[in-house]
Amino acid sequence: MRFSKLRLTGFKSFVDPTDLVISDGLTGVVGPNGCGKSNLLEALRWVMGENRPTAMRGGGMEDVIFAGAATRSARNFAEVSIQIENSDRLAPAGFNDQDQIDIVRRITRDVGSAYKVNGKDVRARDVQMLFADASTGAHSPALVRQGQISELINAKPKNRRRILEEAAGISGLYQRRHEAELK
Ligand code: ATP
Ligand code: MG
Repeated sequence: MRFSKLRLTGFKSFVDPTDLVISDGLTGVVGPNGCGKSNLLEALRWVMGENRPTAMRGGGMEDVIFAGAATRSARNFAEVSIQIENSDRLAPAGFNDQDQIDIVRRITRDVGSAYKVNGKDVRARDVQMLFADASTGAHSPALVRQGQISELINAKPKNRRRILEEAAGISGLYQRRHEAELK
């Protein structure tokens, strides 16, 4: 299972549709301050189901929508899609019969977020679970933000355990237990 393409439309500074092709091996993103490098990582986290505005460096969820610039007016929606190459068939159950998995998240002003997996409407939870079961996702320790290393060092034991559980790929089980207890 491997990310092969990220597409952003109206997401933060990426007003026009922009593709980031992710090839085998190492991909580097370089550019001057403020050109949108961190926005790319936020887009990845967002399409995987991130729902905390603070993680997106915004005040509200709609802050990810292109807010306008001197020569461009604001957009009404933001959309990010991620293409996952699954020829190794390592995707979690329910997705492991597909060669390629396309996940799309769109947020529309005053409407909210909608998700699609391979063209079908799904819930945020389905997308979050897909990545939790694959030991990756919006809260994955594989996505390291600036300042996060010192956060880990200074974290309280309980929070540090959460990060380790995410790394061990068992956080999806906790979510399911929590939901089972609510029923
Ligand atoms: P650095 O090298 O300083 O870390 P960077 O390449 O990571 O920079 P980002 O932080 O990804 O840059 O991009 C910041 C830019 O994104 C700023 O110019 C900011 O105005 C723009 N931006 C953020 N949110 C929006 C939005 N909703 N609409 C339009 N532009 C936005
Ligand atoms: Mg940055």
